[in-house]
Amino acid sequence: MSRPLILVTNDDGILAPGLAALAEAVQDLGEVLVCAPETERSGSSHAITLHSHLRTDEIKPGWFRVNGTPVDCVYLGSLHLCARRPDLVVSGVNPGFNLGSDVFYSGTVGGAAEGYIRGASAIAVSVHARESPRVAIPIVRTLAKVLLASSQRSLLNVNIPWLSREAPGRAADTVAEGLPLQVTRLGARPYVEQVERRQDPRGQAYFWIGGPPRDAGEKQGEDTWAVLHGQISVTPLVLDITAPDLSPWQSMLEHVSVASTSAGGEPT
Ligand code: MN
Repeated sequence: MSRPLILVTNDDGILAPGLAALAEAVQDLGEVLVCAPETERSGSSHAITLHSHLRTDEIKPGWFRVNGTPVDCVYLGSLHLCARRPDLVVSGVNPGFNLGSDVFYSGTVGGAAEGYIRGASAIAVSVHARESPRVAIPIVRTLAKVLLASSQRSLLNVNIPWLSREAPGRAADTVAEGLPLQVTRLGARPYVEQVERRQDPRGQAYFWIGGPPRDAGEKQGEDTWAVLHGQISVTPLVLDITAPDLSPWQSMLEHVSVASTSAGGEPT
């Protein structure tokens, strides 16, 4: 087998320390290409740039910056910058968890999911907001080796708790060594709903939306529970969000046909 091709991206921008940690984690596992947004695109989910131009430049050998989203980076990287399709796409290391419904908003997960759509296995990696991204290095190396050796194509969402809090004085890239990996499902991830209205210096209103996370009633087996209990959470994702059981909706719509909009055509 030829050397695997590994594409590294993130949503925090090409200069983010998490990106360097991720590139370091996989550097000797194959041929590595880094392609990341030129500015932070956190919260960009699966956004793709279809209505304006993209530009890319190689800021150092094998490191490409793109004026787009993580999905743009993975699309352009996979189809144009890489000599062939990547075998593995790694995205992160995001400073702050991506748990539960965060996966719908996360650009870190968006980049990984795009890699999966383009035919690679993919890993999205996030750490506790106060943790060094370097704790992810041995975890990503381990998972990357497993995925590259496996015939099962996977999309994994990895969240790493604040491990170094328990290991003062130890080098960040060693604190995870020997720890198990917990396979989890997505948990609930409620946030305080918040719209803050402010006024700019010219008297116009502007808004900040979104509040902090709040207690979720975490359940064992869920990603939120795992990180709360100091475990490294690995959630396998699938991209088909169709309801697993269609029967309630089949019953609901069984005797329904589309009503006429003309007079007298109210649904009966
Ligand atoms: Mn981010």
